[in-house]
Amino acid sequence: MISPESKPETRLKGIGVSPGIAIGPAERLGKTLEEPEHLYIEAAQVAGEKARFSLALIATREQILELQEQISATEGENHSAIFDAHLLILEDASVLNEVLRVTETKLKSIEWAYYTVVKRYIDSLRKIADPYLRERAVDIEDVAKRVLKNLRWTVETADGSRSLQPNTRVLLAHDLTPSDTVSLDRKRVLGFATEIGSPTSHTAIMARSLSIPAVVALHEFPDDFSAGDVVLIDGYHGLVILNPDSATLAEYQSLAEREKSVLTDLEPLKHQETLTADQKKIILSANIEFIEELGGVSEQGAEGVGLYRTEFFYLSRIDLRTEENQTANYRTVAEATAPHGVIIRTVDIGGDKLCPELFENPEPNPFLGWRGIRLSLDEADDFRIQLRAILRASAFGKVRLMFPFISTLEELQGARTQLELAKEELRLIGVSFDEKIEVGAMIEIPSAVMIADHLAREVDFFSIGTNDLVQYTTAVDRVNDRVAHLYQPYHPAVIAMIRETVEAAHRNGIWCGICGEVASDIVMAPIWVGLGIDELSVGAAQLLRTRRAISRLDSTVCREMTDRLRTCGTSDAVRGQCLEMAAKSYPELLI
Ligand code: PEP
Ligand code: MG
Repeated sequence: MISPESKPETRLKGIGVSPGIAIGPAERLGKTLEEPEHLYIEAAQVAGEKARFSLALIATREQILELQEQISATEGENHSAIFDAHLLILEDASVLNEVLRVTETKLKSIEWAYYTVVKRYIDSLRKIADPYLRERAVDIEDVAKRVLKNLRWTVETADGSRSLQPNTRVLLAHDLTPSDTVSLDRKRVLGFATEIGSPTSHTAIMARSLSIPAVVALHEFPDDFSAGDVVLIDGYHGLVILNPDSATLAEYQSLAEREKSVLTDLEPLKHQETLTADQKKIILSANIEFIEELGGVSEQGAEGVGLYRTEFFYLSRIDLRTEENQTANYRTVAEATAPHGVIIRTVDIGGDKLCPELFENPEPNPFLGWRGIRLSLDEADDFRIQLRAILRASAFGKVRLMFPFISTLEELQGARTQLELAKEELRLIGVSFDEKIEVGAMIEIPSAVMIADHLAREVDFFSIGTNDLVQYTTAVDRVNDRVAHLYQPYHPAVIAMIRETVEAAHRNGIWCGICGEVASDIVMAPIWVGLGIDELSVGAAQLLRTRRAISRLDSTVCREMTDRLRTCGTSDAVRGQCLEMAAKSYPELLI
């Protein structure tokens, strides 16, 4: 149990992007290798500094091994080889001896000595022309950051010996990119808070999938707040409380208990279908970004995966992109989601998900730039590698595929042509796949909504990507916190776009789902029921709440309410109507 600090409590207001409460010691994340304080020590302190160093090295070794095990279990052994290189760097005798010598002879603190020695290596590697060797600087920096972090966390215990503080943390960072979040040591992160960010950034989406409470857009952390101070993240209300006092801790204890009792109450829904009060069925599936989330998907009783965002797996490391690796990954998902199946979305790189080798020069407007299907069609060979891998996996379970970021009919037809080529390539070499694989289009751009009848004739289903649809309908960059208040899923124009898409799908005899974040907004559930949405794909952590909300709604009453929404001119008016119905139907779910 963490006892309150003597520093005064400070409350910071941001945007809650992933519900839940996290309390723990803070860790501030710097982007680069941060220079430690220049501290000299007394000769008598040398032994203590050496002990601290060996403790930090042992802890670093353990963390690297643990990560290696984790990656090897999820992605296969050859992908975890990079960590062997990290261990070699960590244990390089010439570096370690030099660090100890600097501390002994120059009486510099061990942090400063380590930093000076390692930094010299990094700087000289960065000057080398060979790109492979230059890249190694990144690995050394990665290991060095870990060692310095572990050095910061060694503390003197009551008996004078040194030990490492408990290793779970709340992360505080200026920003976390999706690739930072991919490489987070997930077991150790209790929650996180960032100075910038927005609810539909991919970092926020990942926090929700991983059930990590998170708050973004805090603007600035106070300067006097240091690593190790206690921090409380309230992901429900978008609050970050630094050095919470005992009254606050007690208040949050009771909130956590209330939340726990709601969750216990939802448990029986895990193995039930999702039916409205008048027995209309809606498929409730889950969104995933990593295969590690599959456990949560079946544990929460999802009917398969409605959106597998393949780019996170794709972005994390170049060597994961071979056809064999992708096939193995998709096959794992296909087998784990039987009998319901998985909808695999082809890569949606671009926007806030940039891979450095494709985006050497920044684009002026990445969200309006080279993204999703545009990039895939331009890189057709890589695209077909992914399509073949998806097709191969379709022999092992129910696999559907869908294309992101469709803005024209030609793009959808172009993507289908590549799919036919990929099928032909597999037939030629005698590889079997599901010849009747279903294909869908994501509807997330207003131009796609306006030609939905044409698009519907090309595919088996639509999945509405509201995260982008809101962004492009309202002209609000989804990751810009300055205009976050204008990012309004309840905007009447957004509701009209969704209505038009569902109606076009049904007119053309295909089904229509929603896989954006609003699918699990239980205040919006009456609209989804009223519009006759066929499928909702939500973060696994939000699944049971969504199922309970739907079970309390009557489709006829919801349809009447949804019709009345046509008369609303503002987001507030739309939200007001929905909230009234939600509060009447499932008040206990609205924390
Ligand atoms: C969306 O846009 O709603 C969506 C599901 O895709 P992404 O969030 O990955 O852009
Ligand atoms: Mg999208």
